[in-house]
Amino acid sequence: MAQTYYEVLGVSKDSTPSEIKKAYRKLALKYHPDKNQGDKEAENKFKEISSAYEVLSDENKKAKYDRFGHDAYTQSGGGGGHGGGDPFDIFSQVFGGGGGGGSSIFDQLFGGGGGGGRRNGPIPGDDLRYDMELTFEEAVFGVKKEISVNKTDECDRCHGNGAEPGSKIVKCGYCKGAGQVTMAQGFFSVRQDCPKCHGRGEIFEKACNTCGGTGTKRTKKKISVTVPAGVDTGNRMRVRGEGDAGTKGGQPGDLYVIMHVKEHEIFTRHDDDILCEIPITFGMATLGGTIEVPTLEGRANLKIAPGTQSGTVLRMRGKGISNLQGRGKGDQHVKVIVEIPTNLNDEQKEALKTFTEACGGTVNPMAESFFEKAKRWFAG
Ligand SMILES: [Zn+2]
Ligand SMILES: [Zn+2]
Repeated sequence: MAQTYYEVLGVSKDSTPSEIKKAYRKLALKYHPDKNQGDKEAENKFKEISSAYEVLSDENKKAKYDRFGHDAYTQSGGGGGHGGGDPFDIFSQVFGGGGGGGSSIFDQLFGGGGGGGRRNGPIPGDDLRYDMELTFEEAVFGVKKEISVNKTDECDRCHGNGAEPGSKIVKCGYCKGAGQVTMAQGFFSVRQDCPKCHGRGEIFEKACNTCGGTGTKRTKKKISVTVPAGVDTGNRMRVRGEGDAGTKGGQPGDLYVIMHVKEHEIFTRHDDDILCEIPITFGMATLGGTIEVPTLEGRANLKIAPGTQSGTVLRMRGKGISNLQGRGKGDQHVKVIVEIPTNLNDEQKEALKTFTEACGGTVNPMAESFFEKAKRWFAG
């Protein structure tokens, strides 16, 4: 059986883009053709993880994939370059190597050759994940919540450039202004960005007093999140720009809020429908009548037809949950459970005996039909 793309990358459905990227990166390293010359199995594996990443890293493709499922998606050709595409395309996106073409994975990973100038450019901040607990009601009706997120933010004093205000720009002493230094790494001797000036070749004479030159600060930021009505466990909300701050002028990452909805005492949820079980008396089930049931918006009356059997599910239209995509409202399903009386006193027992005798054999259609069948079975 074919693995899903999530299984291929070893991630879950609610993994954030950076978790997916990390997983892909690790596998791509392991199975990359450069490292597995002539190994057919590794090559296939590499193609597989590349196809998986191509879909899961693209918000539109991922949404389509989630909607249609693995088989339908891959068979419909929704995968685009499935199997045939050039895996290096995504590969260079992930590893940030602009060079494409000839640059090998080792160059990109260890910072040599290839991409060159691009690494000096802005570095976007990481995406962050926040797991939000919601009560059933909050998920159903939506809620505005203030959350506290540990993240890196721009330093207030230097506004992210890492310099003490008023400090002069001077040539970096570590790389002597070259911006790059040669480092030995195992068998390789590679050039990489100067760790002091991060490839700029220049530094500010005096680092910011507050952040020590990083341009960022760790902070606990309060962020207001508006959760729309109708969310469910596993739903993911993106709050743009509230991830970690970027460096060298890079864009901040995004914050992904993953919803976790707590169970309700009375209601359970099934997509946009809700279900609840309500006990009714034997008398009510037999004679019919009206009962009062709890709904999301308060009490409502529900008609019980005479002769309602235990386990019957009654539908209350439009009493469910607002659809997250605006497609109306679900229903409430009420499963009635006929409760058998217990602990009868003598008077009640007497009444029930009288009632049973009065019934004879004429008012229990289910039992009658069953015993008819049983009789035929015994007759062979
Ligand atoms: Zn600073
Ligand atoms: Zn330097």
